[in-house]
Amino acid sequence: MGASSQTLAIAGGQPLLRRSDYGNWPVITNDDRRLVNAVLDSGIVAGGTAPQAAALEREWAAYIGTKYCLTTVSGTSALHMALAAAGVGPGDEVITSAFTFLASASCALHQNAIPVFVDIDPRTYCMDPAKLEAAINERTKVIIPVHIQGLPADMDAIMAIARKHKLFVIEDACQAHGAEYKGRKVGSIGPIGTFSLNNTKNLCGGEGGLFNTDDEALLQKGTLIRCFGDEVDEVSHRRVYNASILGYMYRNQELPAALARAQLMHLDENNAVRIANANTLTRELGKIPGVIPPYCPPDYKHVYWMYNIRFDPKAAGVDCPTRRFRIAVEKALYREGLLIGQWQTLPVPAQDLFQSRLGYGSSHYPWAVNEAKGIRYDYNPDQFPVAQALCDSYTIVYGIHPPNGQALMEKIVAAFQKVWARLDEAIAHADDAIYPGADGKLLGTG
Ligand SMILES: *Cc1c(COP(=O)(O)O)cnc(C)c1O
Repeated sequence: MGASSQTLAIAGGQPLLRRSDYGNWPVITNDDRRLVNAVLDSGIVAGGTAPQAAALEREWAAYIGTKYCLTTVSGTSALHMALAAAGVGPGDEVITSAFTFLASASCALHQNAIPVFVDIDPRTYCMDPAKLEAAINERTKVIIPVHIQGLPADMDAIMAIARKHKLFVIEDACQAHGAEYKGRKVGSIGPIGTFSLNNTKNLCGGEGGLFNTDDEALLQKGTLIRCFGDEVDEVSHRRVYNASILGYMYRNQELPAALARAQLMHLDENNAVRIANANTLTRELGKIPGVIPPYCPPDYKHVYWMYNIRFDPKAAGVDCPTRRFRIAVEKALYREGLLIGQWQTLPVPAQDLFQSRLGYGSSHYPWAVNEAKGIRYDYNPDQFPVAQALCDSYTIVYGIHPPNGQALMEKIVAAFQKVWARLDEAIAHADDAIYPGADGKLLGTG
């Protein structure tokens, strides 16, 4: 008996998957236990140049292929440090992608700079270089391309535009540990690359971040910014408690650094599992009319932090608005036991923060710096139609990370086939009070 004859779980049938079909991320091995225990045994649990932090910086610089690396408390702080190191200040504009996590843009606000957004490419969902130059003006200082969900941005095109306009580039590689663009690891292409070590990311330390560069001056500036701007005496190597510039407290700690080092030992094999799982889904889901799997250009390496699919109801043969169709199949698949649901629900510029432009109290800073000169920032979502269309039509199929493998992928595919055999039944339940998504345990966040 084929799946096509079965009543959907959302209409009272039996679900195809159980929660126990899914294994949780991260995968903890004896390497994690060994390195974390070594920290506890050493008695050294913190310090900007402490052994685990220093080793993580050496190992990550070598892995990415940059001369230097600094570890930080978060990916967001690595981005903020990068902007500060690049000399960005009040009223400067920082360009990033309209489809990303908030931190790609809020890091600019943390430096009193103003985020400007560029719409995305309809196939890769990364910043569209063809729309980049229109966002550049005399106030622009930095471009932050985002390697979205594990797929590299089109760095050749972006770097060429940056060179032409003499702009600084900070790669937001927080979702793309080990991804490659034309044979180069992302995070090594712009003058600074940044990564997150948060628990959900392909390389995890619980929390934490990484800042990569080849430039010794940027390394030194980053080191100062990471620790209050405090100078260290060159002869005695002691802090002199004399801040030369404005800095922050962005040092990482030994326990997260040790965990990240142990996870790094398994990053390539874990990415290979994600890629194999994603390739299976892309091959099988791609056969289902109206399912649009993620695209990866031939000379890119996608590391699938998230597995993103889009829906096209017309291609599925049903007469239903795209957004409603997406919601209906998400709910039906969730009831079949799939962990599925959206990540970002809006383009970042459509978020309330940008619509209200309330940054620091009611002052309208930093926007007010330029608004006083007659410059307007309206963040009208209509300026980002491709990102908006993506947010209407996409969902995330969770669980492609290790320890999950082909057996789970086959069940996921079977659930799609089951729902596609009764799409009208799914659409009839589009308004049911069901809230799809992954639970916190799946990504180790409790
Ligand atoms: C996760 C993430 C960040 C921020 O990283 P944190 O470690 O959570 O601060 C920044 N940019 C993108 C694109 C991210 O996904």
